[in-house]
Amino acid sequence: MQKETRCFVQVYTGNGKGKTTAALGLTLRAVGAGWIVLFVQFLKQGEYSEIKALKRLGGQVKICQYGSGEFVRGRPSEKEVASAQRGLNEVIEAMETKKYDLIILDEINVAMHFGLIPVESVIALLERRPPDVEMVLTGRWVPKEIAERADLVTEMRMIKHYFSKGILARTGIER
Ligand code: ATP
Ligand code: MG
Repeated sequence: MQKETRCFVQVYTGNGKGKTTAALGLTLRAVGAGWIVLFVQFLKQGEYSEIKALKRLGGQVKICQYGSGEFVRGRPSEKEVASAQRGLNEVIEAMETKKYDLIILDEINVAMHFGLIPVESVIALLERRPPDVEMVLTGRWVPKEIAERADLVTEMRMIKHYFSKGILARTGIER
């Protein structure tokens, strides 16, 4: 669609809660404006509540997940790396179709941090971004080369988190 707005690259990073939530909020707003959204999740796999909700939005949101579902600690498995790299290639292809107005790359910062995706490949992706595509990268530990190239960087900083009280991800709130 023809947009009156200019498009930028946004990053949501930091150790506080709200990064994926922010990306979902932007998705909702974009859908309301008639935009077509590609919502990509790296590292994650499964029908989280947000995925169920996004599916209800119909053809305006396409969802892709490129995680093996195994948590990455230290050295990622070959399967995890292959899946993330396939994800990145598919995002490049999707971006170049110009079908999407907003592309969310959820947890891509973490995928770069653990070496699943080379930072240079994401830089190349950002350089090829058409000017009418908004791109959002989420996840802790954004590489500084990416933050430098983004137009907006917000750091969610943890002041308090109930995780420290042993409260793990809750359905409806964190997943
Ligand atoms: P949300 O999806 O709620 O917006 P987020 O995207 O900002 O959160 P992630 O870094 O993706 O947060 O965190 C994923 C999971 O890690 C959360 O579901 C939560 O249970 C856990 N978590 C979040 N913050 C912390 C923290 N400060 N310390 C430990 N674990 C955390
Ligand atoms: Mg997240």
